[in-house]
Amino acid sequence: TIKLSQRVQSIKPSPTLAITARAAALRAEGKDIIGLGAGEPDFDTPDHIKQAAVEALNKGQTKYTAVDGTAELKNAIIKKFSRDNGLTYEANQILVSCGGKQSFFNLAQALLESGDEVIIPAPYWVSYPDMVLLADAKPVIIIGDRDQRYKITPQQLEDAITDKTRLVVINSPSNPTGMTYTRAELEALGDVLRKYPEILIATDDMYEHIYWADEPFCNIVMVCPDLYDRTIVMNGVSKAYSMTGWRIGYAGGPAQLIGAMKKIQSQSTSNPTSISQAASVEALNGDQGCVQTMLVEFKKRHDFVVEALNKMPGITALETDGTFYVFPDITGVLVNKPELKDDMDFAEALLVEKGVAVVPGTAFGLKNHIRLSIATSETNLQNALQRIAEFIG
Ligand code: PLP
Repeated sequence: TIKLSQRVQSIKPSPTLAITARAAALRAEGKDIIGLGAGEPDFDTPDHIKQAAVEALNKGQTKYTAVDGTAELKNAIIKKFSRDNGLTYEANQILVSCGGKQSFFNLAQALLESGDEVIIPAPYWVSYPDMVLLADAKPVIIIGDRDQRYKITPQQLEDAITDKTRLVVINSPSNPTGMTYTRAELEALGDVLRKYPEILIATDDMYEHIYWADEPFCNIVMVCPDLYDRTIVMNGVSKAYSMTGWRIGYAGGPAQLIGAMKKIQSQSTSNPTSISQAASVEALNGDQGCVQTMLVEFKKRHDFVVEALNKMPGITALETDGTFYVFPDITGVLVNKPELKDDMDFAEALLVEKGVAVVPGTAFGLKNHIRLSIATSETNLQNALQRIAEFIG
């Protein structure tokens, strides 16, 4: 056997990717599996975006670009931040990466030292804690329970801060809960963070456009402009434009930090794919109607799924503010069915007995829940919910 690094032994493979792979393997064996595990829209990438990629290919845009992204794409991102968020950035404050995942990876590598602490509200996107561990730092998890709509309070944040805290992560709308911090809630978190000027803030706005709450979308720096110098805003085209496979994410923030992240990227992947960058220019600058079309569909599915789940004994699903996830509390089912020890047992049994793949809440740092992705057809959702109802009995 080969002795592997402590670093790689400290992390686990992405559980959401693992569930998706497991469902695919069962399907390949001929099993009838409905996958509600994947974190990606089921729509095709809009045609005008694909056309832009074809044009780029035909024009020979097949070579290295600047490590931090083409001038065209950085301009499109600067325009997007100005248009949607009222935020102003110069080109040296923008970094384009191979997906939002790499944006956060670069941030962790550029910022964190052994012993540093990163505050991560749970339920969290599965990759934050592991990417923090890969940077030798320590994830500090605060739990937002159901009665808090899965969000943390200012008091919880304050209590978690130590003199080792280097970074606080906010993901709103949230994967996996679909919840969004309101303007007032962000103001209150900002009031706490204002007292600790050495702490940086990462706001992951990946689901900004898959959002249907009444209040217009806002992130913490839009609400607290005085935090601009220590906030990094992360976003990407994966979810809004159904472009998960193209691998383009981006970040806007302090030039010094962005420069350090660029240096990390220059010694790992170099630039993101040239063709994908050209397509992303069209995604950001082109007609935004496609975003609305997908949003309407996700909201319809959300309404159907939440209502159906809440009719099942032992399940409580809160209505979400956006994303294509629903995160029901299954505590009541676990009480009724003692043969299921926890949410991981639940997900495993549901997959084996009924062929429905979901992700256990434990993967996101909150037990007694499961995450359903509603990024699949209405027929699939109807069948899946029928099977879940049968499973629960
Ligand atoms: N941030 C959140 C909250 C996500 O859910 C995801 C994807 O699942 C990402 C970032 C990264 O997306 P990508 O690397 O596909 O751009």
